[in-house]
Amino acid sequence: MRPLLLLDVDGPLNPHRADGIPPGYREHEITEGTKTWRLLLNPQHGVELNKLASTFDLVWATSWEHGANRLLGPVLGLPELPTITWSDRRPVPQGSWKAPYVADWVGDRPFIWVDDEVGESEFTADHQLVYPVDARIGLTATDFAAIRSWADGKSFAGKAFPTHP
Ligand SMILES: [Mg+2]
Repeated sequence: MRPLLLLDVDGPLNPHRADGIPPGYREHEITEGTKTWRLLLNPQHGVELNKLASTFDLVWATSWEHGANRLLGPVLGLPELPTITWSDRRPVPQGSWKAPYVADWVGDRPFIWVDDEVGESEFTADHQLVYPVDARIGLTATDFAAIRSWADGKSFAGKAFPTHP
């Protein structure tokens, strides 16, 4: 079973808490209808993610929802990706409001979930890894190396999916 790579945008791919424009990033102004967003994107992220797609199934897990495919994927050179959508924000006792949706979506598949607003508490099975990213920095070469080595070193079989309240 191929692992999933669940991708948040704001934080990991758009380091929106950065001071200025970090090296490697470009500022983009993206407009759709009457809305305009300014964000920082790094073309190297597209390169790295396309490489990881040989191992992982990439999935958007972002409040951009389908807008990630329409507006951001083409900028990064990514193909259309499956997208987790959030119908409402269910209250959660701790951790990310996305966690119950992610749990429903992934079932027992192995995954790495890259997000700036996750902690250790979200998932505990070792075939399902929550990977926090600093929204001041975004995904780095070190992170991509860590994601690759996690995939290389893991056997994904026979693990129970942790239950969610
Ligand atoms: Mg985020």
